Amino acid sequence: MKKRARLSLDEYIRGILAGDRLVLSRAITLAESTLQDDQELADELIEAILPKTGKARRIGITGVPGVGKSTFIESFGMFLIGEGHKVAVLTVDPSSTKTRGSILGDKTRMEELSRSPDAYIRPSATGSTLGGVANATREAMLLCEAAGYDIILVETVGVGQSETAVRNMVDFFLLLMLAGAGDELQGIKKGIMEMADGMAITKADGDNIRASKQARSAYENALHLFPAGPGGWRPKVLVTSALKNEGMSEIWSLIGEYYSLMNKNNLLESLRQDQRRTWFHEMIDFMLTTSFYNQPGMKEKIAKSENVVADGKVTPMAAARKLISISGS
Ligand code: GDP
Repeated sequence: MKKRARLSLDEYIRGILAGDRLVLSRAITLAESTLQDDQELADELIEAILPKTGKARRIGITGVPGVGKSTFIESFGMFLIGEGHKVAVLTVDPSSTKTRGSILGDKTRMEELSRSPDAYIRPSATGSTLGGVANATREAMLLCEAAGYDIILVETVGVGQSETAVRNMVDFFLLLMLAGAGDELQGIKKGIMEMADGMAITKADGDNIRASKQARSAYENALHLFPAGPGGWRPKVLVTSALKNEGMSEIWSLIGEYYSLMNKNNLLESLRQDQRRTWFHEMIDFMLTTSFYNQPGMKEKIAKSENVVADGKVTPMAAARKLISISGS
């Protein structure tokens, strides 16, 4: 297929501000591009739409595969649309590089939501590093906000470092958990619980209701061991059934409570300021790393040094120093 020509900066801006989904998709693709021309245009575009961003509620959703994330997002998203919102769903899945959308699987996800004119669903960017994928998602979030989406749901896989990346780009971080499965089984580390502003026990229906309520008290007790969040926020645990569309308004009220607290004393703005600072530092690291690895012949040089380092003939430090040419400086 022939590559479609880019639009002009003005066409992108007008399309996005008019809420044109096709233009929005093309703008996100532009922001994901690794070509320098595209990146420069994307930078200009994002700068131009920046005044129209920041009004949305940014909500992260995590949980291990199978916990019910996509079913939850479908139910929660439809609930929010029913309340008059416009919902964008973004995904951070660094593994999609290798498997082409591993958490998307083959099944059609969020079927009802994806048909709604008030929802916009965008799968994870692909990229060789989490830093690159996270950056593209942050830019996509800004573009979606400028296009009129007032709720941004950012889904992540529940394994590895992607939680931290998502925690650093959202206001409220929701952890989905199953009742009856041990923490170990769910691969949930203490660190992830500590990041959560709220937890939802999923699939609380049928035979699972009792176990879900028990899990809720157990997790609530566990959460009390962590220090309170900004403004003294204490995460709460709710029970939900996405299949029966239950618990969605309770989750929304919890998020509402959180925002009321965060909007006092400028807490939300200071959280977002910290996030922009972190983003900036991450971009410095990311750009330095990319420009280093992208130097002509670097791949071969690294492969060669790797062999001598593995054989113990040269120390890793000396070999690395030589490659980044700071030796003797
Ligand atoms: P994900 O991998 O975290 O996105 O999980 P999915 O949303 O794909 O759900 C995994 C499985 O759990 C699917 O078979 C769903 O039908 C099932 N499931 C999801 N939510 C519920 C629920 O609220 N109740 C019940 N009983 N099953 C659910």
